[in-house]
Amino acid sequence: MRRLVLILGDQLTPDVAALRAANPAQDVVVMAEVRAEGTYVPHHPQKIALILSAMRHFAEDLRRAGWTVAYSRLDDPDNTHSMPGELLRRAAEFGATEVLATRPGEWRLITALDEMPLPVTQAADDRFLCSDAEFADWAEGRKQLRMEWFYREMRRKTGLLMDGDQPVGGQWNFDHDNRKPAQPDLFRPRPPRFAPDATTAEVLDLVEAQYPQHFGRLRPFGWGVTRADALAALDWFAAHALPRFGDEQDAMLADDPTLSHSLLSPYLNIGLLSPMEVCQAAEAAYAAGKAPLNAVEGFIRQIIGWREYVRGIYMLHGPGYADQNALGADRALPDLYWGAKTDMACLSHAVAQTRDLAYAHHIQRLMVTGLFGLIAGISPQALHAWYLAVYIDAFEWVEAPNTIGMSQFADGGVLGSKPYAASGAYIDRMSDYCGGCRYKVKDKTGPDACPFNLLYWHFLLRHRDRFQSNPRMAQMYRTWDKMDEARRRTTLSEAEAFLHRLDMGKRV
Ligand SMILES: Cc1cc2nc3c(=O)[nH]c(=O)nc-3n(C[C@H](O)[C@H](O)[C@H](O)COP(=O)(O)OP(=O)(O)OC[C@H]3O[C@@H](n4cnc5c(N)ncnc54)[C@H](O)[C@@H]3O)c2cc1C
Ligand code: SF4
Repeated sequence: MRRLVLILGDQLTPDVAALRAANPAQDVVVMAEVRAEGTYVPHHPQKIALILSAMRHFAEDLRRAGWTVAYSRLDDPDNTHSMPGELLRRAAEFGATEVLATRPGEWRLITALDEMPLPVTQAADDRFLCSDAEFADWAEGRKQLRMEWFYREMRRKTGLLMDGDQPVGGQWNFDHDNRKPAQPDLFRPRPPRFAPDATTAEVLDLVEAQYPQHFGRLRPFGWGVTRADALAALDWFAAHALPRFGDEQDAMLADDPTLSHSLLSPYLNIGLLSPMEVCQAAEAAYAAGKAPLNAVEGFIRQIIGWREYVRGIYMLHGPGYADQNALGADRALPDLYWGAKTDMACLSHAVAQTRDLAYAHHIQRLMVTGLFGLIAGISPQALHAWYLAVYIDAFEWVEAPNTIGMSQFADGGVLGSKPYAASGAYIDRMSDYCGGCRYKVKDKTGPDACPFNLLYWHFLLRHRDRFQSNPRMAQMYRTWDKMDEARRRTTLSEAEAFLHRLDMGKRV
């Protein structure tokens, strides 16, 4: 009996569950470039190019390894342009009666496979270090699902940075040594860029022709598209950027979009790298004395802590996680997110870099574009669609908990115990954006007041009932209550006026 083996664009791992369960002598691998996947949000052209080129390279690897691969190209005239459509077409072509799949990382596709008129087996995606069942067991009966406790379990489970049952260095977390502002440094090592080969060049032309209207620059395209490229990116990171990763993790510089970040998320998320090998490379750099513990621990925590934790939350919650809107935010996404001119230098830099690179690092996503969305009351669903579209590494299992949960508090506090609300002072402390801004970060009110300063209080006041009893926020409400009446009135009325201009589509 012949089966189809479905391999999605983020399942490019030679021993992914569906391939392990299949037989190359008789089963047919199905890979498909379908328009539905490229357009359900307007993905950044570099993201589409990365996935299509990596898929084409992976299909060649599978063929060389002896698999029969039925590969549908985007411009194939018989392409039905939906995943179920391609499975049915291939089933008829090869006389297959069953599909083996690895469970997708998105409820939309899980449901689509469940509803197929063919029997589809969705094997658990065991490329994650924590299975859905393990996460559910960990979460069971807990009042709060805090990442830090989960992370410690993962350290014990993986043995990473462990000395017997104790953490190496005597502490689980070295964040007090991290998170410093950074200085511009012309000699800071730059991440590798990979010259497009013939396959990538062909894909770039295709993407250019098929998605001309999508936000984002396609060229220059420098992402790796094979496992060898991804391993080279990992080696580069471990040798050159990891040592400063902790120090510079939360810093933002106008002329340095990547600082000491790894840029490994796209490779991890499409399956070209495994989380364990990435962490082991970091741990080896520490063991060899090439990177300090605060950097290595901080990096490993992002992967076996945050990455696994957000995946656990997304899968535990079930379909509908991304539809939540606990704070009732309903403002439309302002055009500045799509590159319309803004006087706010921080947003202007973060969006321009997103357009050019399909990349912004965590603090730019959380504390610039995300923070503005939160305090301006922008619809979390509009932001969710934006983040899912514009970043090279965006897949719903990781993007939605970060946007809906961490950044917008739209899940009502499942993922974080308090919203990441802040005034312009945070951005000023961690970046060099404010120096080049038309607004003045020190001005709390008045014509030059930084909009983050106004909107911060507006946000806190809008949600006073919900947050004033939160012990981590009560102090801010006391500060507000002590402010003189005239200043409070001016702050709120200027915030209202700013939001009105934003809603009118005026340049802000
Ligand atoms: C609003 C918002 C949306 C986000 N959307 C995505 C997304 O679509 N895809 C995505 O992979 N990450 C997302 N993140 C998390 C994080 O910003 C990116 O993982 C990170 O910026 C990727 O760049 P890097 O590889 O250089 O990361 P580094 O700073 O070098 O971190 C190392 C690795 O840790 C992991 N990691 C770090 N932080 C997180 C996190 N919060 N959640 C999950 N993994 C994490 C990533 O795999 C990353 O490659 C989002 C964060 C926010 C606040
Ligand atoms: S002054 Fe305000 S708007 Fe301008 S860059 Fe600083 S934080 Fe952003």
